[in-house]
Amino acid sequence: MTNENKKDINRRDFIKVLGAGAATTAALYGCEPQKKTGGNTALGEVPIDKMTYRISSATGDIVSLLGYGCMRWPLKEKPDADGNVIDQDAVNQLVDYSIAHGVNYFDTSPVYVQGFSERATGIALKRHPRDKVFIATKMSNFHNPTRENSLAMYHQSFKELQTDYIDYYLLHSVGGGKGIKTLKERYFDNGMIDFLLQEREAGRIRNLGWSFHGDVKVYDYMLSLDIKWDFVQIQHNYVDWKHASGNNINAEYLYGELAKRNIQAVIMEPLLGGRLSNLNDHLVARLKQREPESSVASWAFRFAGSPEGVLTVLSGMTYMEHLQDNIRTYSPLKPLTDEEKDFLEDTAQIMLKYPTIPCNDCQYCMPCPYGIDIPAVLLHYNRCVNEGNVPKDRQDENYRKARQAFLVGYDRRVPKLRQASHCIGCNQCIPLCPQGIDVTKELHRIDQFVEQLKQETL
Ligand code: SF4
Ligand code: SF4
Repeated sequence: MTNENKKDINRRDFIKVLGAGAATTAALYGCEPQKKTGGNTALGEVPIDKMTYRISSATGDIVSLLGYGCMRWPLKEKPDADGNVIDQDAVNQLVDYSIAHGVNYFDTSPVYVQGFSERATGIALKRHPRDKVFIATKMSNFHNPTRENSLAMYHQSFKELQTDYIDYYLLHSVGGGKGIKTLKERYFDNGMIDFLLQEREAGRIRNLGWSFHGDVKVYDYMLSLDIKWDFVQIQHNYVDWKHASGNNINAEYLYGELAKRNIQAVIMEPLLGGRLSNLNDHLVARLKQREPESSVASWAFRFAGSPEGVLTVLSGMTYMEHLQDNIRTYSPLKPLTDEEKDFLEDTAQIMLKYPTIPCNDCQYCMPCPYGIDIPAVLLHYNRCVNEGNVPKDRQDENYRKARQAFLVGYDRRVPKLRQASHCIGCNQCIPLCPQGIDVTKELHRIDQFVEQLKQETL
């Protein structure tokens, strides 16, 4: 597809859907009658025709503000003979529902869901007209950046996704590893960047960008290059806006640098790995007092989607009720007022007083060669912190109950062989964590805490 053709097609689609005089943000109103969507009716109807869309400044694509992150597809109990664990029927159902309700952006990677996400996403999307959806995938060559492997990964994505063009192609996790050295090894020394630019020229990649995790020097370096980036994917939520933890830099800076250059942002981690939907009771009450009918997660999605330079906000939705809730939030988006932004900033500051570990369940540290389920251990700990179940003082009247909740929940959420006690401290996971968590230290601390709880006789 030539650039001219692309422009024509985009212009046609644009006029077809929006009509003349559309603004950069538009809620599209179809003429299909309202359908009953069923399920979750207590929270209200799920609109089919009110999704907010943003228009790509690079190609004119009309992109739904809610993007589907395909890294958490539902799993079945037993894998297939080839090891595929994804429940394809459930994926098809989620994809069909999301498209029927206006979602059109699907983001996957060759490494998601043990390497099976692209295939499952491709099967589900193949059942819909190709020109009604935007497919995003990535060059995830962290473990083997040779040219040969990178090319094979690129071509395999087309095969798995059953397509002859990729709408949004990303250099995956730029900024990780050893900063610029790793960046050069993965994309520059092997000539992949030149190859990808040629692919964009040839139309097989329609938009070229990268996702950022980690070293801000790499971020600044990428933006200083004489390359036209069509979009950049960044982590952005109401905690990271001003208080990014670990190696991460504040989202306010990341977004601001893109805005200066008129590069649109694709947003990941709007819920900070689920932490902004699993707030402690005090914070839930705070949000519910303001808007009793709105979900806790909807505040985070409104924050992520409010800046005009955001093209789409990705959410890895495993469950139908999460998909429905997010569709409601963006159908249409009610942008945050300045006063609501201040309210969320205060909420973030209260949240940061709780000593949780900044794990966002990104899984980049996995698999641990010794079988530890690192994020499951850390997230269990965080959940207990938020629920007041990390007992410290034996004199506390809740001690017994909290101890029980911590230990029983631990065994329920993390199989024994995958618990922190089996960590041998090899430290292989530490450089892989974009949040800069000293995973070994945290696991050992949690393990000691568990042992102490177990040994205490009440
Ligand atoms: S330090 Fe522990 S958790 Fe990390 S890779 Fe080694 S054994 Fe696994
Ligand atoms: S420990 Fe770090 S790399 Fe592992 S899941 Fe959590 S945030 Fe991601």
